[in-house]
Amino acid sequence: MKYVLFGPPGGGKGTFAGQIKKILPKIPHISTGDIFRENLRNKTELGLKAKKYMDDGALVPDDVVIDMIKDRLTQNDVKENGFLLDGFPRTIEQAEALDEITDIDAFLLLEVSRDIIMKRLTGRVSCAKCNEIYNIYTLPPKKEGICDKCGAELKHRSDDTEETVNNRLDVYKKNAEPIIEHYKNKNLLQKIDSTDTLAMSEEEIKGAIGYQD
Ligand code: AMP
Repeated sequence: MKYVLFGPPGGGKGTFAGQIKKILPKIPHISTGDIFRENLRNKTELGLKAKKYMDDGALVPDDVVIDMIKDRLTQNDVKENGFLLDGFPRTIEQAEALDEITDIDAFLLLEVSRDIIMKRLTGRVSCAKCNEIYNIYTLPPKKEGICDKCGAELKHRSDDTEETVNNRLDVYKKNAEPIIEHYKNKNLLQKIDSTDTLAMSEEEIKGAIGYQD
């Protein structure tokens, strides 16, 4: 299956991706933000190019992101098991570029209120090693600052401050409408209330993503 997971920063894309993985364990979860952060950590050329945009909560230029995604979507795991794209496309140009690379099965739009987003992002911590996400208010790890899954240190993202979050939400609002329209016109739009996707049963998740065994 080939899915695009779309929604505001803090809209629960990472959490919902985890829920989809329970149903489709082999599907590669491809998060452009995670790829950039990994490149930043490893100080690659791509990471250095992306850094100044990420620090401001702005978008990395389309040509950089599109080249990166083209490269990722031609790898073997994707050929065998499809993909769950998270954080791409973020502009209409990226959506059109994706159309040229491949067809998708569904565009999953996660919807949630701005108040919940702020709480999620300012409380979010994630594992520096395996990317598992926690929230100090709503989903704390068993031991403070330590990942339950792999024991590595948990970090707060430097772009999860209130100011940067506001900027990222404004950027999302400006770009989201034409992208949603693009997939609506292709009959691929599936809206999902992501206030509490962790409470969804497997049957509910299958229904929400239009998956049949
Ligand atoms: P995310 O983890 O998805 O919130 O992404 C973190 C940051 O990475 C964003 O604020 C952008 O600076 C950059 N980024 C991630 N995905 C994209 C994309 N598709 N287009 C442009 N910039 C992106």
